[in-house]
Amino acid sequence: MENIQQIAFGPVPSRRLGRSLGVNNIPGKICSYSCVYCQIGRNFKMTTTRQAFYDPEIVFKTVKTKVQDVLSRGEKIDYITFVPDGEPTLDKNLGKEVNLIKTLGIRVAIITNSSLIYDPTVQNDLLNFDLVSFKVDAISEEIFRKINRPFKGIELEKILEGIKTFSESFKGTLITETMIISDIDYGDEFDRLANYLSTIKNLNKAYISIPTRPPQESWVKVPTEETLNVAFAVFESKLNGRVEHLIGYEGNEFASSGNLESDILSITAVHPMREEAALKLIKKDRGSFEVIERLIKKGLIKRIEYQGHRYYLRKL
Ligand code: SF4
Repeated sequence: MENIQQIAFGPVPSRRLGRSLGVNNIPGKICSYSCVYCQIGRNFKMTTTRQAFYDPEIVFKTVKTKVQDVLSRGEKIDYITFVPDGEPTLDKNLGKEVNLIKTLGIRVAIITNSSLIYDPTVQNDLLNFDLVSFKVDAISEEIFRKINRPFKGIELEKILEGIKTFSESFKGTLITETMIISDIDYGDEFDRLANYLSTIKNLNKAYISIPTRPPQESWVKVPTEETLNVAFAVFESKLNGRVEHLIGYEGNEFASSGNLESDILSITAVHPMREEAALKLIKKDRGSFEVIERLIKKGLIKRIEYQGHRYYLRKL
């Protein structure tokens, strides 16, 4: 089974989750969407069929070892987060995995694109998490199709209903994330989004984000400040104090496990790394920049420029 060492990575800094130790429960990039702003790269495979990818015991043992290693180095973990190279709810073993990981006594989160939430088995699995983050980029079919480019058969209406139904019984922290990008005619979409979000029970926070890392399609840029401000004001008018911008860079504080090459490979697989962050990690590990050049030469990572910064990204 390839990529096992990359099942657990980080911790990486996260505005929403503090120090988040990532669980990559999907091998390669398998997703139900092909978002124009995706930071992971082009889709390998699109599907809506839930499948078993890894043995849940292997996922658990890998995460447990990583947690012990990180804690023994005096690093902090706020959340263990399912945030893979694709859509985490496509994993049929998700429920088993979260229950095993919860025995470690650290809060467990998941960042999902919401596409399968109408499926009762997915809802049951997600009920076990301490925090669930749903992607809600659009309410209108046209904008949804343009931004998220869903796999055939996916129905937006069922997703929006599914989130609402789930929110009725979920006892943990529920947040949403709405990505706003350039070159989309949003019209009154922000009103519709705000109206919809206000119907989700116990919504803790609605985050508005922008593409801060290199996107899949080069035409995708950050929206204008005016668009962002309008979106914020409209959301705020319905959600009173529960709206936050997620527009800054999340920081350079990536944890080191002592194996620099493997850390860079596992982090860049799901999280493009800014050059400053890579340099900081290298320094922490008393390594040299040669490791980056070596990984590029081996064809394992690539270097890209975005918004005036250099990033390193895993080649899938
Ligand atoms: S951004 Fe997330 S949901 Fe969209 S294609 Fe990438 S992995 Fe899938």
